[in-house]
Amino acid sequence: VKSDALVFYGATGDLAYKKIFPALHLMVKRGNLNSPIIGVARGDYDLEKLRARAKESVQKYGQYDEESFAKFYSLLGFVGGDYTDTQTFIRIREALGNAKNPTHYLAIPPVLFPKIVEQLELSGCAKGARVIVEKPFGTDFESASALNKVLLSKFSESAIYRIDHYLGKRPVNNIVFFRFVNSLLEPVWNKNHIESMEITMAEDFGIQSRGAFYDVTGAIRDVIQNHLFQILCNLTMEPPKALDSESIRDEKVKVLKAIAPLKAQDVVKGQYKGYLGEKAVQPNSKTETFAAMRLHIDSPRWEGVPFYIRAGKYLPVTCTEILVKFKHLPSAYSSIASQPNHIRFRISPDVTVAFGMLIMAQGEDMSSVLSEIQGNPTPFPNEKDAYERVLTDAMAGDPTHFARQDYVEEAWKIVDDYLKSDYPVFEYEPGNWGPDQVNELIVPTGGWNNPEVNKK
Ligand code: NAP
Repeated sequence: VKSDALVFYGATGDLAYKKIFPALHLMVKRGNLNSPIIGVARGDYDLEKLRARAKESVQKYGQYDEESFAKFYSLLGFVGGDYTDTQTFIRIREALGNAKNPTHYLAIPPVLFPKIVEQLELSGCAKGARVIVEKPFGTDFESASALNKVLLSKFSESAIYRIDHYLGKRPVNNIVFFRFVNSLLEPVWNKNHIESMEITMAEDFGIQSRGAFYDVTGAIRDVIQNHLFQILCNLTMEPPKALDSESIRDEKVKVLKAIAPLKAQDVVKGQYKGYLGEKAVQPNSKTETFAAMRLHIDSPRWEGVPFYIRAGKYLPVTCTEILVKFKHLPSAYSSIASQPNHIRFRISPDVTVAFGMLIMAQGEDMSSVLSEIQGNPTPFPNEKDAYERVLTDAMAGDPTHFARQDYVEEAWKIVDDYLKSDYPVFEYEPGNWGPDQVNELIVPTGGWNNPEVNKK
C-alpha cells in the first residue's frame, strides 16, 4: 500500500539537514511524494523555521529549483513537542487528518524509540501505519533484539523499514542482478572455481568530528556488520525462487546463518596513529578504526572458500571494491599464467564491473598479461541517490531493500562474541593499508587487492 502521509521525527537533526530534506524534495519533484510531510521537533521550533531549514538544506545538499521547492514547501507541516508528552502525539494524529496509512520516520537516537512507539499506539497514530528506523539497530545481538521487540510490540514486521542505505545503492544491487542474469556465471560461481572473494571499504580520511559516536562504535559495528555483510550476501546467496521481497531476504538470512561466529585468529584490528588525540575519544581507547577479517560460509556452494572483508579510516584511498578471484586452471599453460582470472565490482567512487583475463603479452615469447573487459554502468542523468531510493521504496511499501529483523540479529551473532572480548588493536600509520599484522595473519592467496583510484 502506498503511504499517504510522512511524519518525520528529528527534523532539526544532522541527518535531516544533510540527507532527508534533499531526498524528500526530489521525491516531490519527481512526483513520487504528494502527501503531507510533517516534521516533529522539540523546543522553540515552528513551521517557518522548519521551512527555512528545509530550504537551506536543499540549496546546500540537494537540487534546488523554485518551482519544485514551492511544491515541497506547501506539503511541509510541523508539530512541536516533547516525545514523552502524550499531547504531542495527539497533535500529530490531528495533523495527519484523513491519512489512513501514515509513515513514521524515526530519525532520532534509538533510546527514544520505546517511548515514541508506545505513544504512537496510544494516540492512534500507529493504526495502518508503517515505521522507518535508522541504523544503528542495536550495538549487539541483545540490544538489537530488545529494539526489535519494542518495534514488534506495536508494528508487524512487514510495517517496519530498517534503513541500510547501502541497499539503496544501484551498484550494490547490481551484484545480484549481474550474477543471476548472466548465464555464464552460475556454473562457475562456487567452490570449484572461485578461490576467494575480497570486499574492501577504504576511506582516506579519519573520524572527522564524530569522535563521540565513533569511539563507542568502531569499524566493525559502523560498516562491516551492516553494509559489508549485505554486500557479502549479494555475492554469495542462492538464487531466490522469486523476486518478491521475502524470497530475496530469506536467501540473505540463510547466508548469515551459515557463517560461524568470528574467531580471534580470523580478525586483525587496527587504530590509526593520532586517533587517541581526536576530540571526544577516550585517552586509552581501543576502538578499531580498521578491521580485516576472514569468514567462511558453511554451505555446499562455498565450503572451504575464504571471504575477506576489510574496512578502515585513513587508508590510502577512498573506495569500495570487491574482487572475486578464480582458481588457477591446472594445465600445461599453468606456468605461463601470471595471475588468476577475476571479476571486480567497484561500488564507489566510480562504478565498474570488470572481468580480468589473461591474453598473450606483446613480444615473441609466450607470456601472459592481465587484461580487463570493463562495463561502466556510470550513473545515468538524474539518478536517485541511495537515500531517495530507500525512502521512495518505503513510502511505496516495498521492503526488499531494507534489513529484516532476522537479518539484523543473525548479523550480530557473527560479530558479537568477538566484539565482547578484549583482543589487541594494532597501531598503523595514516595512509597505510592498516597495521603490518594484517599482512602476516589475514592474507588472501596472491595478496590483497588494493584498489587504485585516479586522484584528480
Ligand atoms: P541527531 O542530530 O543527534 O538527533 C536528531 C534529533 O533528535 C535532534 O535534532 C533532536 O531534536 C532529537 N533528539 C535527540 N535527543 C533527544 C531527546 N533526548 N529527546 C527528544 N529529542 C531528541 O541525530 P542525526 O545525526 O540527525 O541522526 C538521526 C538518526 O539517524 C540517529 O538514529 C542516527 O544514529 C542515524 N544516522 C545518522 C547518520 C548521520 O550521518 N547523521 C547516518 C546514519 C544513521 P530536537 O531539535 O527536538 O532536540
